[in-house]
Amino acid sequence: MVDFEVRPCRQPVPAARRKELLAAPGFGRTFTDHMVTLRWSTERGWHDGRVEPYGPLVLDPATSVFHYAQECFEGMKAYRQAGGSIALFRPEENAARFNRSAERMAMPPLPEETFVRALELLVSQDSEWVPDAVGTSLYLRPFMIATQPALGFTLPSDSYLFCVIASPATAAFGAGAVPRPLTVWLSEDYTRAVPGGTGAAKTGGNYAGAFKATQQAVANGCDQVVWLDAAEHTWVEEMGGMNLFFVQRSDDGSPRIVTPPLTGTLLPGVTRDSLLTLAPRLGIAAEERRISVGRWREQCAAGELTEVFACGTAAVITPVGQVKSASGDWQIGDGEPGPVTLRLREELLGIQHGHCPDPYSWVH
Ligand code: PMP
Repeated sequence: MVDFEVRPCRQPVPAARRKELLAAPGFGRTFTDHMVTLRWSTERGWHDGRVEPYGPLVLDPATSVFHYAQECFEGMKAYRQAGGSIALFRPEENAARFNRSAERMAMPPLPEETFVRALELLVSQDSEWVPDAVGTSLYLRPFMIATQPALGFTLPSDSYLFCVIASPATAAFGAGAVPRPLTVWLSEDYTRAVPGGTGAAKTGGNYAGAFKATQQAVANGCDQVVWLDAAEHTWVEEMGGMNLFFVQRSDDGSPRIVTPPLTGTLLPGVTRDSLLTLAPRLGIAAEERRISVGRWREQCAAGELTEVFACGTAAVITPVGQVKSASGDWQIGDGEPGPVTLRLREELLGIQHGHCPDPYSWVH
């Protein structure tokens, strides 16, 4: 395995200031004292692994990533456990997805154990930055960028930088037991991903291309964009940074959660996968099936669909209360968080923070 040299930061953030920052961390604006860096070149493979003081990267203006966006990233969290220790949640899943993204972007694979080791080292080094209030965690952002200083674009870069940074976080959209329901905007003008494209990869371009639609969503009083399929703008795919689940009733009245299948145009969320596994244990059937916007609206009007929720590392599980679009608005159920949403949220947070049994050994 690749080795990492630890170079401790000589001027860490003073404890009193760190406590202040941890009291209300928000999301992605405060960073810990250290970061991980690891380099790759065609001649040397992975080398020069370090845990070093957090700080700016110095890059040539011709560096490939600035021009052609050859990069990929991950998003995951370290959770303070009931007994005070710290755990990651299914880090091998993020390692595997990172390598699938890298493969799609023609970048070198990083051994999964090296990816996980880098996270473990950074979290141990900055363990005091893992907050312990309900709904908080340390968000981890591993990423890889193409570093060759060259403007030719027929071949991928011949060198890369892998880096991990960490940022204390409050769950997006509220940390309380009952999160605020989202109002979502159906993007009928813009498309996030196309068949054969990069939609299933966690790569910056997917997010850069989404800002315009998000601006439109915000201008219409919405929190998030719901992306539809590229060809017909009919089938629901996912949201800007979350997957979507619909709560329906089976014939016997029991709840069933339904999420769009992984067609290659949406991100295979680790939270999504966890819920598909977890729900049946709680007596909630789970299914991957595509759902059209028309059906979504009809089922809400008929009272057959009373809950929809978004899920992801940042959002955990957050209810969706209202839908808006250029062709009309509607409400889901009474617009308030529903029982299936809250039950799944409680269970998932319980496993992540060590309050509930972990039947699948997801906690690391
Ligand atoms: N879709 C998109 C586009 C995302 O960026 C994310 C966040 N990584 C998700 C879904 C949810 O994935 P996860 O559950 O792995 O956080």
